[in-house]
Amino acid sequence: MGNNNKPVVHLISKPENMLKTIYSACRTCYSADTPYEIYNSTDDEEKMLKLIERVVSSGHYSTIEHIQVSFAISNVSRACTHQLVRHRHMSFSQKSQRYVKEKGQFDYLIPPTIVRNEELKAKFENFMGEISKFYCELTEAGIPAEDARAVLPNATATSMVASLNLRELIHIANLRLCTRAQYEIRCMVKAMCDALIAEEPWLKPYLVPKCERLGFCDEDKSCGRMPKREA
Ligand SMILES: Cc1cc2nc3c(=O)[nH]c(=O)nc-3n(C[C@H](O)[C@H](O)[C@H](O)COP(=O)(O)OP(=O)(O)OC[C@H]3O[C@@H](n4cnc5c(N)ncnc54)[C@H](O)[C@@H]3O)c2cc1C
Repeated sequence: MGNNNKPVVHLISKPENMLKTIYSACRTCYSADTPYEIYNSTDDEEKMLKLIERVVSSGHYSTIEHIQVSFAISNVSRACTHQLVRHRHMSFSQKSQRYVKEKGQFDYLIPPTIVRNEELKAKFENFMGEISKFYCELTEAGIPAEDARAVLPNATATSMVASLNLRELIHIANLRLCTRAQYEIRCMVKAMCDALIAEEPWLKPYLVPKCERLGFCDEDKSCGRMPKREA
């Protein structure tokens, strides 16, 4: 049952007029025109991008909070989503282990480092089978799923709808695309960013590890991709 597929991520909702909305927010702060006049004043993408880069680089982040996006995420482990839910400016609706009782072998994700070792992989799968048997023993004995789930591992597969604004997505990309972040969440956040970039290519320079924006690495242990801050 265990599989090693990548996270499955789909962008399911985003504003149609993202760039113009942010541009209007940016210019409203510095213009005598009304926001709606500004909104209707231009379709010049280059002009809009130039202003947005200037405003965002100066830390005027409220302008990108107007953009809300939603992702449908599946085939990820509870260990992975536990890290994502630490981000406080997101909204989540996650598959419940109280209301959805596992029937037979539950789905799980095997970390690639374990998959690469055939012997450990076999032991891992066997162990998941043992957990599943005990889980079923508990539920068949009438223990509610909300208590039987106590034996389910971090590797258990889960799914969720996750929504956030663009400021938070950029923040998360900066942290979680860093090679210091754990592999699975890095893959998941990369898939979220890629899905949005596919529709809004202008976002590519923002949805990057923090070192690319900073021009240096501020981590204790650097992967070497960028010079350390001290250097
Ligand atoms: C590589 C890596 C390793 C990690 N290791 C661990 C670990 O070992 N143990 C652990 O517990 N966690 C760990 N974390 C999680 C980390 O401590 C944060 O909880 C998580 O990354 C959320 O980040 P955040 O607080 O910046 O972002 P968010 O919660 O997404 O918030 C975004 C920003 O909003 C602001 N903000 C939000 N809430 C507050 C607040 N209450 N007060 C002031 N400002 C606020 C901050 O500027 C914050 O950066 C790790 C994260 C990473 C990326």
